[in-house]
Amino acid sequence: MSQSELDFLREKVDKINLQILEMINERGRFVQGIGKMKGNQGVYRFDPVRERKMLSVINEANNGPFEQSTIQHIFKEIFKAGLALQEDEHSKELLVSRKKKPEDTVVNVKGELIGNGTQSFIVGPCAVESYNQTAKVAEAAKKQGIRLLRGGAFKPRTSPYDFQGLGLEGLRILKQVADEYDMAVISEIVNPADIETAVQYIDVIQIGARNMQNFDLLKAAGAVKKPVLLKRGLAATLQEFMNAAEYIIAQGNDQIILCERGIRTYEKATRNTLDISAVPILKMETHLPVFVDVTHSTGRRDLLLPITKAALAIGADGVMAEVHPDPAVALSDSAQQMNIDQFNEWINALRPAAVTV
Ligand code: PEP
Ligand code: MN
Repeated sequence: MSQSELDFLREKVDKINLQILEMINERGRFVQGIGKMKGNQGVYRFDPVRERKMLSVINEANNGPFEQSTIQHIFKEIFKAGLALQEDEHSKELLVSRKKKPEDTVVNVKGELIGNGTQSFIVGPCAVESYNQTAKVAEAAKKQGIRLLRGGAFKPRTSPYDFQGLGLEGLRILKQVADEYDMAVISEIVNPADIETAVQYIDVIQIGARNMQNFDLLKAAGAVKKPVLLKRGLAATLQEFMNAAEYIIAQGNDQIILCERGIRTYEKATRNTLDISAVPILKMETHLPVFVDVTHSTGRRDLLLPITKAALAIGADGVMAEVHPDPAVALSDSAQQMNIDQFNEWINALRPAAVTV
């Protein structure tokens, strides 16, 4: 073959390359159009039946020299690229994502701002047991300048034979105590049907670890105008955690506090394993405030101080801890709650300059 023949053939190939390029992009534009229509109709974009048909038509029309398998491979890649183009176009960042909203979301709990750079504490008994028990903790917390009081009224217990909480009566006690001490209350709701009533008594709806993927509950919490504290599921990945929060925000409620409370691992030294790296990851990936529950993550009073320090140092917007006037007789989680003296020691060690009111 002479040099001029070679140049001639190469020129042809170069020209065809550009034609293929133009045609692939033209195909891409049509595919984008189809994607847009499917998006509007809410139809899933990948259609295997349609792909099969296109491949069959191509196979039949193929006269070589390429083998069917080669042609099939090339067109499969073109189809894949087209699908990716459709998905890119429609890929929606989650509403909870920082990519969607770069600024921090500040959650306003009865005037206490969470996520604005200050650090807050939520303390209170595991479960509301009586007016006196709750009021004693509220009084101690208030003296330390803490305004957020927790207490379980509907308790999601592992065993059906364990104390299940006082229910609505528990919420009534919490509200009474909160009103008397000018505090805000947070309590777990386990049934979507209870939310409407509960919001008359509480200031923050807690969704517990065992309910992180109770989608009806998440939607119901998203539909009301109340802050929600969402706990990470016992074995939930951070992606699943963020998606659970997305269920709430998608209903129009962005007043969400994420709470890392430890996950289940093989380690037995602590009740759960606190995933401390979850805090900066969630802060980077989402615009929501992040809390750490130091009680349920450790299950150990002797770890509360160092773990709280670690949580605050790594950037948590606040910490939740359980306090009971007499943990030994507590109806739930008696081994891990602090008594009032221990609570005072703990908070004073964290905030030596805490103002006593
Ligand atoms: C609680 O905070 O009362 C509780 C039950 O925690 P968790 O859902 O994290 O287990
Ligand atoms: Mn508890």
